[in-house]
Amino acid sequence: AIEVRALCKTFGSNEVLKGIDFHVDQGEVVCVIGPSGSGKSTLLRCVNRLEEPTTGTVMVEGIDITDSETDLDDVRTRIGMVFQQFNLFPHLTVLKNLTLAQQRAKRRSRSEATEIARRNLAKVGLAEKADAFPAQLSGGQQQRVAIARALSMDPDMMLFDEPTSALDPELVGDVLEVMKELAKEGMTMMVVTHEMGFAREVGDRVVFMDGGVVVEQGKPEDVLGNPQHERTKLFLSKVL
Ligand code: ATP
Ligand code: MG
Repeated sequence: AIEVRALCKTFGSNEVLKGIDFHVDQGEVVCVIGPSGSGKSTLLRCVNRLEEPTTGTVMVEGIDITDSETDLDDVRTRIGMVFQQFNLFPHLTVLKNLTLAQQRAKRRSRSEATEIARRNLAKVGLAEKADAFPAQLSGGQQQRVAIARALSMDPDMMLFDEPTSALDPELVGDVLEVMKELAKEGMTMMVVTHEMGFAREVGDRVVFMDGGVVVEQGKPEDVLGNPQHERTKLFLSKVL
């Protein structure tokens, strides 16, 4: 679970997060929506401390990650991250992309890491691509490899930052399908997305951010179907 309290983040004089309270419960799928520049990625990046919060607290599985005593490497192995850019190692095969971090950070043997990697490749529908290099795959396939790589670390939760935004439209569906399966299996997920269909269908809760604050949140059918705030209405009128 994720628990964010009174989170503020400034870059120089730019106050990007202005006191965010946000949580994702165990097994919950929370979709974060909002205009460009509203702070969605910054919030997500504060959750695993890719960004350092200016003030406020971030708890991950009950551990305060803003505490200087906290072992960040340990916390980060619990959190799977998937970005818009797939960040695969181009010079490594798909299989190697999936086994490397397992062997290094989880100290798994090569055979164990390989077995787990193959299981996760099968799960995202890419069992036959183990020996391919990233450049030989479509964007959608590369993103599914990135998801399989994150899953191979046995994360307690998965954070997605616009995982389908860089994809050609016809490739988006396969990636969303994999995420939907994960959600069904009970994975705890924070998903920054412009895919309103996904948010409506798969999200347990939708959080609308604008200007560094959470403006509105609730069940997808409420936030998307019957928004209460003008800013939410304006945003939805542009994207729906
Ligand atoms: P988008 O939908 O375009 O991805 P977003 O909601 O994810 O937008 P953020 O990327 O969190 O928005 O950015 C919010 C603000 O913070 C922007 O004004 C951005 O310029 C600023 N910002 C983000 N990261 C940094 C950084 N590392 N240094 C300085 N400013 C930053
Ligand atoms: Mg962003």
